[in-house]
Amino acid sequence: LVYLKDGPPQVVTIPWLLDVPTMVGSDPGQAQSVIVGDGVLPRHATIIKLPESPTYVLLDHAAPQAVTEVNKVRVLRFKVVRHGDVITFGQQQFVFLEFQVSKVPEGSSQVFDKCAVLRHGFAVGDDVVMCRCGQFTHLACWLVAERCPGPDCAYPHRNLLVKFFQDTFLFAALTASSPLVGRKCALSGSFPWNEKEFAPSETQIGRVVHCPMCKIPYHEPCWFSLDVCVTPDCGYNVREKVLSFFSHSRLLERTNGH
Ligand SMILES: [Zn+2]
Ligand SMILES: [Zn+2]
Ligand SMILES: [Zn+2]
Ligand SMILES: [Zn+2]
Repeated sequence: LVYLKDGPPQVVTIPWLLDVPTMVGSDPGQAQSVIVGDGVLPRHATIIKLPESPTYVLLDHAAPQAVTEVNKVRVLRFKVVRHGDVITFGQQQFVFLEFQVSKVPEGSSQVFDKCAVLRHGFAVGDDVVMCRCGQFTHLACWLVAERCPGPDCAYPHRNLLVKFFQDTFLFAALTASSPLVGRKCALSGSFPWNEKEFAPSETQIGRVVHCPMCKIPYHEPCWFSLDVCVTPDCGYNVREKVLSFFSHSRLLERTNGH
């Protein structure tokens, strides 16, 4: 999914399941995903998902007549693209989105039947994430899951999320000699792993993050699950930061350096 910067968002849908290349360009006769604007060529680029891999690749056809950039770096023939990347075709900027947040609408259909993470129901107004494969999960469930629960998808979105926030939240892997071993997470209850003390682990609970404001330590999934830091008077708004991961305007600002 790609969005245009100005005006009403122009949505370009890239097929997910079929591993079919999608031509992006200005000519409806040649491109499956049609975008218009200055500097966009009739056949500008192809976006394709690599078979047996969660990765999308952009193949540039525009050079040398026109510019194709990913995160403001010129594409030389091809480039891997992932959620949050800003793609420039000619003079048009788009954001590549693999996940979207929304709320369960009134009278919604059965795609909202059951959340695949905890197998519980959805209610109207719940915050949900739609994965690129079409799978819906609660936002709160998505934030603590390591992978998409969608059949045939299993996208390891947590890796992407951690990478995206690495500079903001400073995650660290627990080791046997970590001073945190033997201490407990600031969030009690909520998750089974909070019953125990911090310990090294291969999974997501083997990583910790300290609140940027009050420095109190959390398991990584516990941190992502929060609205605000639990320390009295800290008030660090975790959810607001986390939601920037899904916002095409915030992603554009990030890349354009505002
Ligand atoms: Zn998925
Ligand atoms: Zn759920
Ligand atoms: Zn805090
Ligand atoms: Zn925890």
